[in-house]
Amino acid sequence: MEVLSNPKILKEIKKYGKFDVKGCYNCGTCTIMCNISKEFAPFPRRPFQYALLGLKTNLLGSLEAFLCHDCGDCSIACPREAEPRLSMATLRRYLISKYDITKIASKILSSKAVGILSYFIVGILSLLLIFLYHNLKVGLSPSDFFPTSMPIEHTLPEGGFRILYGYALFIILFPILILLIGVIRMAYFSFKGEKIPFYYSIIALYEMIINLFTQKEMLKCKRKENKIRYIFHIGMAIGCLLMLIIVLFLLRWKIHTNLAQRILGYISTIGMLFGSFYVIVERIRKKSGEIYKESEWQDFPLPILIFLISLSGILVHIFRNLNLEMLSHYVNAFHVAFVTSFLLIELPFGKLSHLIYRPFALYFYKIKEIYYKKMEVKS
Ligand code: SF4
Ligand code: SF4
Repeated sequence: MEVLSNPKILKEIKKYGKFDVKGCYNCGTCTIMCNISKEFAPFPRRPFQYALLGLKTNLLGSLEAFLCHDCGDCSIACPREAEPRLSMATLRRYLISKYDITKIASKILSSKAVGILSYFIVGILSLLLIFLYHNLKVGLSPSDFFPTSMPIEHTLPEGGFRILYGYALFIILFPILILLIGVIRMAYFSFKGEKIPFYYSIIALYEMIINLFTQKEMLKCKRKENKIRYIFHIGMAIGCLLMLIIVLFLLRWKIHTNLAQRILGYISTIGMLFGSFYVIVERIRKKSGEIYKESEWQDFPLPILIFLISLSGILVHIFRNLNLEMLSHYVNAFHVAFVTSFLLIELPFGKLSHLIYRPFALYFYKIKEIYYKKMEVKS
């Protein structure tokens, strides 16, 4: 089989962050030290070699970057101080941009200015939509916006339910569609040329489901700071998933929700608030071991948005229950803007996309593992 080398690939990858593989002398210490490196997908050394040799097809089909949990054990062990942890994170961003068919991820992840601006533009556009909704649908003139005391219930007039529900469905379904296409492309790159029996994909399904809800692979990273990080990481991840379930299936767009919804809402908010606060503080302090020693700008929008969403959500809840109508309206408008930026930019194109890509990478790896092991037994 003819293998083509692409000499431009290193330059392309470096647009997404640090990627110091030229300093690497291929000793393999990092792969030995990585507790979650796999038998049939050893990393981090192997994907670095693909990049060095310009093997773009192999790199696109490699799942290793998403199997990595960013713990930093490899960076501590590397005798050349080549920072393999950072290179793996850069590879993840590169692959996210390749899975994304719209090419928006590539623009956002490779340029700090474009990236930060996109979060703001989407937030501002959603504030503008809220203004237009109140102006055109509710009938408030711009001069009424501040001095008028608006009863909270007016945000749900006849027909308002449909507008709000339609808006919420759009901002939820859009990232789901983008990520679905991304996962299909990931599978295409990874399984291209391989003939694996379909039923292996059924046997391996449990791997994806378990990992989606437990992130258990992360526990294999042995250092103490990883155990602490796991607690906050799982808090944030479960908080986000619970909130998505509440919005999609439970919320009926009433001001006063029932007790079960409230309890679920409180649990998810606590997970998101404390998890994100911990990550922001540690990334700024840079003192809690290798994981937080160095961050790229792309690491910040996710915890910052989760923190702002949970904080504004709590404030809206408090203001509503105190009947502080104006305050709850204004804080709610910002809450919607943060959520919109989170769902339209961060989830499909930003770091958060790993929430979906990682369980699928583990799933695809499991399918291959079952297949390769059967082949080994046969031969
Ligand atoms: S430990 Fe460092 S030098 Fe050795 S293979 Fe890994 S990245 Fe390269
Ligand atoms: S950062 Fe951790 S999980 Fe990722 S390659 Fe290095 S040791 Fe393995």
